Amino acid sequence: MVGIVTAIEFEERDLEARVPDLSAGGTWITTRLRWRRDPLTGASARILTGEKLQPETRPDLTALTAKSGFCPFDAEVLEKFTFPFPAELTPEGRIRAGKAVVVPNIMAYATHSAVGIYDADRHFIDLDELTGGLVGDAFVAMVRHARAVRRFDPAAVWSSISANYLPPSGASLVHPHLQSAHDACGTTSQRLLAERAGEWHVQHGSSYWSDLIRQEADGPRWLGQTGRVFWLTPFAPVGFHEVWGVVADVPDVTELSEEDCQALGEGLSRVLGAYKEANLASFNFGLIGGGPVAGEHGHRVVLKVVSRSNPEPAYRSDATYFERLHGEAMIDLSPEEIADSIRPRF
Ligand SMILES: [Zn+2]
Repeated sequence: MVGIVTAIEFEERDLEARVPDLSAGGTWITTRLRWRRDPLTGASARILTGEKLQPETRPDLTALTAKSGFCPFDAEVLEKFTFPFPAELTPEGRIRAGKAVVVPNIMAYATHSAVGIYDADRHFIDLDELTGGLVGDAFVAMVRHARAVRRFDPAAVWSSISANYLPPSGASLVHPHLQSAHDACGTTSQRLLAERAGEWHVQHGSSYWSDLIRQEADGPRWLGQTGRVFWLTPFAPVGFHEVWGVVADVPDVTELSEEDCQALGEGLSRVLGAYKEANLASFNFGLIGGGPVAGEHGHRVVLKVVSRSNPEPAYRSDATYFERLHGEAMIDLSPEEIADSIRPRF
């Protein structure tokens, strides 16, 4: 129904924690500790007070990222150690767009998976050098592969394109790359998002993501827009420095246009530039397709990006028992503070 504004409820509680103050001889003081629940998934997060967990300096990445030893993604060996896709999937063999090349993944974690290299000529690309064009072209090539998979295997209805970057994020190769997954099962978070967006659609007759964008636009968590991608920080993050890009009107990865891919690349590049300025070095992103009935439910492709711990000897992991076993993020900088620091780039 036209004209009905559906308010999304952002639930926040102050847990009113009391702690002894080290700087005041152990005097007990009340400290601000906010508990928030994501209005769609119900996942909760704790926002601490004070920048206790932020890196004051950036680690020297020279040794870690030096070109030493074997790397299958380097241009001079890429054609030897990666393989073309079978002709029945795509006549392209290796799928190329700009500097990006997409090849079959040799490790199976989904029925169909690919690995994309932003630029085979550069063994390491720092966060501020991952330009909108480099990332956008990689998305273009990945989406072309995703479409080929969907034509070849219509049962592989759950699609996503994700990335690890440097070892703390899970990357086993330093050479910057991204990966995709296409199969009939999807992932826990992918299914949950789709199910809850479907329930929202049944209850409210509207798209959760359109409602979210309308409600958050120009607010304290709003970043801006590239093309038809809307950028914001989530009310209840699952990780540090988390940013979302919601692609208006696009329910699935296979339906992203080349313009959408470039808009996603441009926005992500700006976020990664801000990460570098905040002394960060490692990240994960997931570009999450909505599954088989996303279009009917007004569900949308969402890109989620989080920073990860810096690669330092004996680093403190950002995934504690809270995140791994309780499904609850514990972060120190609020989504509003993150938005304030990244917004000038949009
Ligand atoms: Zn390399």
